Amino acid sequence: MKKFFKEFKEFAMRGNVIDMAVGIIIGAAFKAIVDSLIANFIQPLLNWILPAPAEAADGAWAIGPACASFIGTIISFILTAFVLFLIIKAMNAAKNAKKKEEAPAEPTTKKCPFCLSEIDISATRCPHCTSELKE
Ligand SMILES: [Zn+2]
Repeated sequence: MKKFFKEFKEFAMRGNVIDMAVGIIIGAAFKAIVDSLIANFIQPLLNWILPAPAEAADGAWAIGPACASFIGTIISFILTAFVLFLIIKAMNAAKNAKKKEEAPAEPTTKKCPFCLSEIDISATRCPHCTSELKE
């Protein structure tokens, strides 16, 4: 059992799993907002555009409300997918920025090919042996 928890900890502590969990939680939270938007604004609008026939009996299948409901679900999916895409993109950008910070600094010196002294990278003449340096 101890081994199981150790393995689980190793699994959970991997950065990408945490990132993924955060993404899922944000996605779920956002989906609630989208669902609310659809239920309160888009659905009534669609119901207005595609009204149920007045003569339809209660519980009878009607093309209007069925289409409205289906379109609402599609809009919900597209919005959620789009925002998840933006979240993942932002997370990747943040990760890449972090990686760049960790990368070693650009070299500021080079070796003179004649006397092998360390000289400024943009030098065109070696300050030690005065040799002219090609780019
Ligand atoms: Zn030199």
